[in-house]
Amino acid sequence: MEKELPPLVPGTLYLVATPIGNLEDITLRALRVLKQADLVAAEDTRHTGMLLKHYGIQKPLLSYFKFNEARRSEELLERLAKGQTIALVTDAGSPGISDPGTRVVRAAIAAGFRVEPVPGPCALVAGLTASGLPTNEFHFVGFLPVKSGARQRELARLIQLPGTLVLYESPHRVDRLLADLTELAPDRTVVLARELTKRFEEFIRGTAKELHAKFREARWRGEFVVMIAPSDFGDSTLNTQNNSSALRRIDTSSS
Ligand code: SAM
Repeated sequence: MEKELPPLVPGTLYLVATPIGNLEDITLRALRVLKQADLVAAEDTRHTGMLLKHYGIQKPLLSYFKFNEARRSEELLERLAKGQTIALVTDAGSPGISDPGTRVVRAAIAAGFRVEPVPGPCALVAGLTASGLPTNEFHFVGFLPVKSGARQRELARLIQLPGTLVLYESPHRVDRLLADLTELAPDRTVVLARELTKRFEEFIRGTAKELHAKFREARWRGEFVVMIAPSDFGDSTLNTQNNSSALRRIDTSSS
């Protein structure tokens, strides 16, 4: 089947999305691009090396991360100029989404090279689409500032916006985020998408106040996408609908 497909286009930067937990979540095209590219630029070469090994792919790897982005971008452009094909990946999900990538994309465009997305997993899309919250208008801001004053100010501004607010947060800061939100908008509907695509995937729904109290009891771990309903969101039944892997197991065993 692979023979019928067109070869990669020389001098192209491919942005390849990789799994956010479940190794089955990689597209056929992503695997082909990773196999055929001259080089894989990776956020963490060890991490990506393991991923490639899992799919039986051997490829030269070059590290490309936040603190060497500028230098590496130049090097990648030089390779593109020689007609090489480069697959850029990050540790998980879509490059450039709260991850390195944007700088080299901009530089490649400015220098007249082709940039081609190879779409796939992205935690924000996975979380939002299954959250039950409005998807017609949403604001994704990635991570909020770490410093509490700046974070609170930013959150106060963001929750005024129409549409669903989608945030990424590190596991040890979700508690503080819920505390801030409880102060600002205690009755706002919140959905926490935890450990998406992994064994203990769970959607935890409730008001900010409820989830803050629950979080203190349950001390959930893992990765989270935090989604905050718009202020005019009227469906309060959603607040009681949780969807955990445990529930799913009951469903499948009874069918
Ligand atoms: N580029 C990635 C993407 O496309 O989603 C995001 C990378 S960002 C550095 C990592 C953050 O994404 C985590 O802190 C968490 O908020 C979110 N995330 C990534 N994987 C996740 C998962 N399996 N479940 C829930 N959230 C996840």
